[in-house]
Amino acid sequence: MTDPAQNLETYLVGGAVRDQIMGFEVKDRDWVVVGATAKKMLKLGFKQVGKNFPVFLHPSTGEEYALARAERKTAKGYHGFEFDSHCQITLQQDLQRRDLTINAMAMDRQGNLIDPFGGQRDIKEKIIRHVSDAFKEDPVRVLRVARFAARYAGKGYRVAADTQAMMVDMVDNGEVDALVAERVWQEMHASLQEKHCAVFFRELRNCGALEKILPEIDALFGVPQTEKYHPEIDTGIHILMSLDAADRLTDNPINLFAVLVHDLGKALTPVSELPSHRGHEKRGLKPIKQLCERLNVPSQYRSFALKVCEFHLHCHRIGQLKATTVMRLLEKFDGFRKPELIDGFALCCLADKQGRSGHEQENHDQMNLLLEYHRAALAVDGGKVANQVRQQANAGNNTDAKITGAKIKAAIRKQRIAAIAKVIANGKLQTALRPRLS
Ligand code: ATP
Ligand code: MG
Repeated sequence: MTDPAQNLETYLVGGAVRDQIMGFEVKDRDWVVVGATAKKMLKLGFKQVGKNFPVFLHPSTGEEYALARAERKTAKGYHGFEFDSHCQITLQQDLQRRDLTINAMAMDRQGNLIDPFGGQRDIKEKIIRHVSDAFKEDPVRVLRVARFAARYAGKGYRVAADTQAMMVDMVDNGEVDALVAERVWQEMHASLQEKHCAVFFRELRNCGALEKILPEIDALFGVPQTEKYHPEIDTGIHILMSLDAADRLTDNPINLFAVLVHDLGKALTPVSELPSHRGHEKRGLKPIKQLCERLNVPSQYRSFALKVCEFHLHCHRIGQLKATTVMRLLEKFDGFRKPELIDGFALCCLADKQGRSGHEQENHDQMNLLLEYHRAALAVDGGKVANQVRQQANAGNNTDAKITGAKIKAAIRKQRIAAIAKVIANGKLQTALRPRLS
C-alpha cells in the first residue's frame, strides 16, 4: 500500500524535531499538513480524532497529522480558543501559535529544518523562550515552561527573562486562575517524572503561580525549622531539596508526590511553637486531602502520601521502635499484600533525610533497618503457621472455621512480631543489605 501521506504537504513538528536537534531519542512524531481539508484527509483514509478538532491518525502508522491551524483567543482560559484551520493557513502561522521556540520548528520530508522563531539558536543558548505575545493567552503554557525547565535543568537550560515576565503577568492578571484541575494535575504528574522535578515547583513559585495553583506548598516557603536538624531552615527549600534527593533515588511519581506533600503540616504550626513542628505529621493530613480533592489526584497517590505524611517520623526513629509498633507500621502500609509500598515509604523517608543542607549523602541505615524488619516479617511461613493452628483445632475438636481463621491470623501476626523482635535483639543489621529499590 502506498503511504497516503505522500499525497500531502506534511512536516514533522513539535517535540520530535526538538528532540532530534537536541540529540534525544524521539518518542512520538507529530505532523502538520498544509493545504489540505478534512474531507481530503478522510478520503485518503486518515481517521479523525475529535469531532471538532482538525487532527487525524495515519491509517497505518497511527501517528498524528494535524491540519495547519492558527488560533484566535475568544475568552479567558483555554476553553476560549477558536481554531482557524483551513487550507490557506501556512506552516509559519501554525508554528507561530506554538508555545516555545524550541517547540516551534518543523522539518520537511527531505530533512530540511524550518525554524522561523530561532528554536535552534535557543537550543544552542539553552534558553526556554516563548514564541510570541500569544503565549499569554493560554495558562497551560505556564505549566509547560515549568515542566520543560524541570526536564532540561540538568543540561543548564533556563527560562528567558521576558518569558518569565510574561508568566508573572499571566499570574497577576488572573489568567492562571482559569486553569482547570485536570490540566494542573496532568502537567504536575508529568513533571514529577522529569529529571529535576523540583525545578517545576521552583519555576511556578518564581512567577507567583505556585500560590494560586498549589497554595499548600507555597505556604511552606518562609516557614522556619530547627537549624540543628534542618540547616537549610526554610521548609519550602527543604521540600525542593527532598525532591532532588528523591529524584536521585527513583522516578516513581507516587513516591515523588508523597515527598512533595509530606511536610504540608509545617505550614500550620502555631507561630508560638516555631521553629519546632511537633505534631506536623497529623496536621499535614488535612491539607493533603484538600490538595488532592481540588486537583482530583488519583486515590493511589493520595492514600500513599497520607501514610507517608503520618508515619515519616516513625522511619526516622525506626531504631527505637518496639516490635509491635514496627508491625503496626507495616500493617498501616498494607506491607504484607503490597510490599512495594514499604520500599516506597523507606525511600521517601530517606529523601526527607537527604533533603537537608549538608546531609545530601546521609546514610541508608534507617531505611535498611526498616527493610530488614519487613523482610523478616515477610519470611514467616503463613501456610505452616495455618497448618499448625488447624491441627491444634482438630485435636481439640474445634471445627468453627471462623474461630480457626481468626486464630490463624493472630498466630501469623505473633510470629511476624517475633521475627521483628529477633532482628531487634540482634542489635544491628545482620548483613550490609543493599536497598531493594528499583
Ligand atoms: P513531550 O516530549 O512532553 O511530548 P511535546 O513538545 O511533544 O513534548 P506535546 O504536548 O506532545 O509536547 O505537544 C506537541 C506540540 O504542540 C508542542 O511541541 C508544541 O509545539 C505544541 N503545543 C502543545 N501544547 C501547547 C500549548 N498549550 N500552547 C502552544 N503550543 C502547544
Ligand atoms: Mg509530544
